[in-house]
Amino acid sequence: MTDDGNTRPRATCRVCGDGLEQFLDLGEQPISQAFVEPGADAEEFFFPLVVGVCTGCAMVQLLHDVPRDRMFHHDYPFYSSSSQAMQEYFAGVAREFLDTDLTGDRPFLVEIGCNDGVLLRTIKDAGVRHLGFEPSGGVADVARARGIRVRGDFFEERTAKEVCAAEGTADVIYSANTLCHIPYLDSVFRGVDALLAPDGVFVFEDPYLGDVVAQTSFDQIYDEHFYLWSAESVQATARRFGFELVDVRRLPVHGGEVRFTLARAGRRTPTPAVAALVAEERQRRLSSIDTLRGFAANVARVRDDLVRTLTDLRERGRRVVGYGATAKSATVLNLCGIGPDLVEFICDTTPDKHGKLTPGQHIPIRPAEAFADPYPDYALLFAWNHAAEIMAKERAFTASGGRWLRYVPDVHVV
Ligand code: SAM
Repeated sequence: MTDDGNTRPRATCRVCGDGLEQFLDLGEQPISQAFVEPGADAEEFFFPLVVGVCTGCAMVQLLHDVPRDRMFHHDYPFYSSSSQAMQEYFAGVAREFLDTDLTGDRPFLVEIGCNDGVLLRTIKDAGVRHLGFEPSGGVADVARARGIRVRGDFFEERTAKEVCAAEGTADVIYSANTLCHIPYLDSVFRGVDALLAPDGVFVFEDPYLGDVVAQTSFDQIYDEHFYLWSAESVQATARRFGFELVDVRRLPVHGGEVRFTLARAGRRTPTPAVAALVAEERQRRLSSIDTLRGFAANVARVRDDLVRTLTDLRERGRRVVGYGATAKSATVLNLCGIGPDLVEFICDTTPDKHGKLTPGQHIPIRPAEAFADPYPDYALLFAWNHAAEIMAKERAFTASGGRWLRYVPDVHVV
């Protein structure tokens, strides 16, 4: 079902209206973070997770979107500050803005999807005007308790205009791991147009199509990740709404992202990095249907290898436990049909998830301490984007003979 109640796959691009070509079908999937209470009898919501590319603007997008209130609500369980590495990362991003675009008279930064305030706490500590948009009440309350100014709304044209009328224009509109969650991009861009100062910048960072294809990281695709950006598709979208892509930066976080910087058309000179990334994508034929169908074939191979490996481990009597009940894991578990018969439980540090079951496949979720009680033979690493942080923390596991089972870019044991 889509935002407008439609159950048919979308045939035209959400951004430019041209035709969509489907290249990947990840099957019926639940809401990726709708963890289930044991014994709950409410029926779970499923939707077809199918991906296509626009033949006009090259935007890769889902062909069905999920009503936003089903994903983002008071009990949304993803807390950005749960990773120490991401806390440090966002403190660095904030410091960079403080040194560059927030040096004028009474600067103002607006963040779309500020979550628990992982970035804004540094902006607030510097005494700089800020406002976070955050519709998910639980995480927003954590940010407020840190003294951060939060508006408990979705960012869109109406809410952006209200902020502009009350507080004036923003020098920076920033968004991390959120813009790709928003199907109604036209409303967002009209909101940015209304709220951004004439020389301001609109900066967003999200998983990058180039990395997803290169690493076969198909678990980056789930209900929340509606778009997978490329420099080519962002450039086309920016132009459509009177903006220009003026910088791109590859980022190592979350399995490979790009930070896109947009300005009003003609206000800033694009850096050479923009033309270089667009040229690289054309040379790779990144958005061509052949490349994307090749990616889909790799996904099928990883799926079959993972199921075969887990089945083999079960037959040999090995214990396998999952590490990190991430949103990404929902795609893997439900695509592969991996249930508690193959993965005994998944450990996770988020208290809200403890005692619940994963959406769709109903694998129990236990606190982090359950991992060592006793250690399993294999740990299936769902939170692979935090691999360095996790593996350093869990050295005792490998020292005791435990092995990590990974599936990005292919199925392997380390
Ligand atoms: N920026 C944080 C980070 O990078 O860790 C949070 C990312 S989290 C995956 C996405 C956040 O976007 C959620 O907290 C969700 O509630 C919020 N969100 C979703 N749609 C939004 C919208 N239209 N406007 C503002 N926030 C939104």
